[in-house]
Amino acid sequence: MNRPFPDEPELPPLPQPVPQPVPRPDAEPVWLAAANVVAWRRCGPGGRELRPGTKSFKGGAKVYVARVYWGPGGDRVTAVGRERHTGRWIVIDTATRHLHSFRPKLVHTPRVLERLGSAHRAGGFTGPERTAEVCETLERYARQYRAEIAPRSPHPDRCLCHACLAGETGAAGETGAAG
Ligand SMILES: [Zn+2]
Repeated sequence: MNRPFPDEPELPPLPQPVPQPVPRPDAEPVWLAAANVVAWRRCGPGGRELRPGTKSFKGGAKVYVARVYWGPGGDRVTAVGRERHTGRWIVIDTATRHLHSFRPKLVHTPRVLERLGSAHRAGGFTGPERTAEVCETLERYARQYRAEIAPRSPHPDRCLCHACLAGETGAAGETGAAG
Protein backbone atom coordinates (compact mmCIF):
# COMPACT_ATOMS: atom_id res chain seq x y z
CA MET A 1 0.00 0.00 0.00
CA ASN A 2 1.18 3.48 -0.85
CA ARG A 3 1.37 6.02 1.86
CA PRO A 4 -1.25 8.71 1.26
CA PHE A 5 1.33 11.52 1.44
CA PRO A 6 4.65 10.00 0.39
CA ASP A 7 6.57 13.30 0.56
CA GLU A 8 5.69 13.98 4.14
CA PRO A 9 8.44 13.10 6.59
CA GLU A 10 7.58 10.39 9.07
CA LEU A 11 6.55 11.75 12.42
CA PRO A 12 8.93 11.15 15.30
CA PRO A 13 7.62 8.72 17.89
CA LEU A 14 5.36 10.30 20.48
CA PRO A 15 7.08 11.08 23.76
CA GLN A 16 6.28 8.49 26.40
CA PRO A 17 4.26 9.79 29.34
CA VAL A 18 6.31 10.33 32.47
CA PRO A 19 5.06 7.98 35.18
CA GLN A 20 3.28 9.92 37.94
CA PRO A 21 2.59 8.70 41.46
CA VAL A 22 -0.97 7.47 41.15
CA PRO A 23 -3.29 7.63 44.16
CA ARG A 24 -4.51 4.13 44.90
CA PRO A 25 -8.31 4.23 44.75
CA ASP A 26 -8.39 0.83 46.43
CA ALA A 27 -6.45 2.00 49.53
CA GLU A 28 -8.27 1.12 52.76
CA PRO A 29 -9.72 4.17 54.54
CA VAL A 30 -8.07 4.92 57.89
CA TRP A 31 -9.20 6.52 61.15
CA LEU A 32 -7.36 9.78 61.74
CA ALA A 33 -7.80 12.73 64.08
CA ALA A 34 -8.96 15.67 61.99
CA ALA A 35 -8.02 19.06 63.46
CA ASN A 36 -7.61 22.70 62.50
CA VAL A 37 -4.47 24.78 62.67
CA VAL A 38 -4.75 27.74 65.07
CA ALA A 39 -5.29 31.06 63.32
CA TRP A 40 -2.60 32.74 65.44
CA ARG A 41 -0.02 31.36 67.84
CA ARG A 42 2.03 33.05 70.53
CA CYS A 43 5.79 32.79 70.22
CA GLY A 44 9.00 34.66 70.95
CA PRO A 45 10.17 36.08 74.31
CA GLY A 46 7.26 36.49 76.70
CA GLY A 47 4.95 35.10 74.03
CA ARG A 48 4.59 38.66 72.74
CA GLU A 49 4.87 37.76 69.09
CA LEU A 50 1.86 36.42 67.20
CA ARG A 51 2.33 34.37 64.06
CA PRO A 52 -0.36 33.08 61.71
CA GLY A 53 -0.68 29.29 61.48
CA THR A 54 2.58 27.34 61.45
CA LYS A 55 5.59 27.38 59.16
CA SER A 56 4.02 24.66 57.01
CA PHE A 57 0.29 25.23 57.39
CA LYS A 58 -2.00 28.24 57.04
CA GLY A 59 -4.05 29.30 60.06
CA GLY A 60 -7.38 27.51 60.00
CA ALA A 61 -6.11 24.79 57.65
CA LYS A 62 -7.60 21.35 58.14
CA VAL A 63 -5.09 18.63 58.87
CA TYR A 64 -5.22 14.99 59.89
CA VAL A 65 -3.17 13.64 62.78
CA ALA A 66 -1.85 10.17 62.00
CA ARG A 67 0.48 9.63 64.94
CA VAL A 68 1.09 11.02 68.44
CA TYR A 69 4.37 11.07 70.34
CA TRP A 70 2.89 9.89 73.63
CA GLY A 71 6.19 9.19 75.38
CA PRO A 72 7.31 12.81 75.65
CA GLY A 73 3.81 13.83 76.77
CA GLY A 74 1.91 14.07 73.52
CA ASP A 75 3.38 17.48 72.79
CA ARG A 76 4.07 16.59 69.16
CA VAL A 77 2.10 14.84 66.45
CA THR A 78 2.57 13.76 62.86
CA ALA A 79 0.07 15.54 60.67
CA VAL A 80 -0.84 15.44 57.01
CA GLY A 81 -2.21 18.58 55.38
CA ARG A 82 -1.82 20.99 52.51
CA GLU A 83 1.40 22.98 52.56
CA ARG A 84 0.68 26.70 53.02
CA HIS A 85 2.40 27.91 49.84
CA THR A 86 2.12 25.05 47.35
CA GLY A 87 -1.18 23.49 48.43
CA ARG A 88 0.45 20.07 48.14
CA TRP A 89 -0.28 17.41 50.73
CA ILE A 90 2.65 16.99 53.10
CA VAL A 91 3.33 14.80 56.12
CA ILE A 92 5.13 16.68 58.89
CA ASP A 93 5.62 16.68 62.65
CA THR A 94 4.11 19.65 64.43
CA ALA A 95 3.42 20.81 67.99
CA THR A 96 0.09 19.66 69.43
CA ARG A 97 -0.57 23.22 70.69
CA HIS A 98 -0.77 24.47 67.10
CA LEU A 99 -3.93 22.42 66.53
CA HIS A 100 -7.48 22.49 67.89
CA SER A 101 -10.95 20.96 67.44
CA PHE A 102 -9.72 17.39 67.16
CA ARG A 103 -12.39 14.98 65.91
CA PRO A 104 -12.32 11.40 64.66
CA LYS A 105 -12.60 10.98 60.91
CA LEU A 106 -12.58 7.97 58.61
CA VAL A 107 -10.43 9.29 55.78
CA HIS A 108 -10.83 8.00 52.21
CA THR A 109 -9.05 10.84 50.34
CA PRO A 110 -6.64 9.01 48.01
CA ARG A 111 -3.96 11.73 48.13
CA VAL A 112 -3.94 11.70 51.93
CA LEU A 113 -3.67 7.91 52.06
CA GLU A 114 -0.96 7.96 49.44
CA ARG A 115 1.13 10.57 51.27
CA LEU A 116 0.73 8.72 54.57
CA GLY A 117 1.71 5.49 52.86
CA SER A 118 4.92 6.92 51.49
CA ALA A 119 5.74 8.35 54.94
CA HIS A 120 5.04 4.92 56.53
CA ARG A 121 2.18 6.37 58.56
CA ALA A 122 -0.65 4.63 56.72
CA GLY A 123 -2.08 2.80 59.73
CA GLY A 124 -3.93 5.61 61.48
CA PHE A 125 -5.68 4.75 64.75
CA THR A 126 -7.62 1.61 65.62
CA GLY A 127 -11.31 2.26 65.09
CA PRO A 128 -13.64 5.16 65.92
CA GLU A 129 -13.68 4.71 69.72
CA ARG A 130 -9.92 4.75 70.07
CA THR A 131 -9.67 7.73 67.69
CA ALA A 132 -12.28 9.61 69.75
CA GLU A 133 -10.21 8.97 72.90
CA VAL A 134 -7.10 10.20 71.13
CA CYS A 135 -8.98 13.36 70.06
CA GLU A 136 -10.16 14.11 73.61
CA THR A 137 -6.68 13.67 74.98
CA LEU A 138 -5.09 15.79 72.26
CA GLU A 139 -7.62 18.59 72.82
CA ARG A 140 -6.71 18.66 76.51
CA TYR A 141 -2.97 18.54 75.81
CA ALA A 142 -3.20 21.27 73.18
CA ARG A 143 -4.92 23.61 75.69
CA GLN A 144 -2.44 22.75 78.37
CA TYR A 145 0.58 23.37 76.14
CA ARG A 146 -0.90 26.65 74.89
CA ALA A 147 -1.38 27.78 78.49
CA GLU A 148 2.27 26.94 79.19
CA ILE A 149 3.59 29.36 76.56
CA ALA A 150 4.97 32.26 78.63
CA PRO A 151 2.43 31.65 81.44
CA ARG A 152 3.58 34.70 83.44
CA SER A 153 3.37 37.05 80.54
CA PRO A 154 -0.07 38.62 80.12
CA HIS A 155 -1.78 38.48 76.76
CA PRO A 156 -2.43 41.91 75.23
CA ASP A 157 -5.94 43.33 75.03
CA ARG A 158 -7.92 41.78 72.19
CA CYS A 159 -5.25 39.11 71.77
CA LEU A 160 -5.76 36.99 68.66
CA CYS A 161 -4.06 33.83 69.94
CA HIS A 162 -6.20 30.71 69.89
CA ALA A 163 -6.33 30.43 73.68
CA CYS A 164 -7.84 33.94 73.92
CA LEU A 165 -10.18 33.57 70.95
CA ALA A 166 -11.48 30.26 72.27
CA GLY A 167 -11.63 31.48 75.88
CA GLU A 168 -9.38 28.70 77.13
CA THR A 169 -8.57 28.69 80.84
CA GLY A 170 -5.31 30.35 81.72
CA ALA A 171 -5.29 32.76 78.81
CA ALA A 172 -5.78 36.40 79.78
CA GLY A 173 -7.77 35.25 82.80
CA GLU A 174 -5.20 36.34 85.36
CA THR A 175 -5.19 39.89 84.10
CA GLY A 176 -8.95 40.11 84.28
CA ALA A 177 -9.06 40.90 80.59
CA ALA A 178 -11.08 37.86 79.63
CA GLY A 179 -14.56 38.81 78.54
ZN1 LIG B 1 -3.87 35.42 73.73
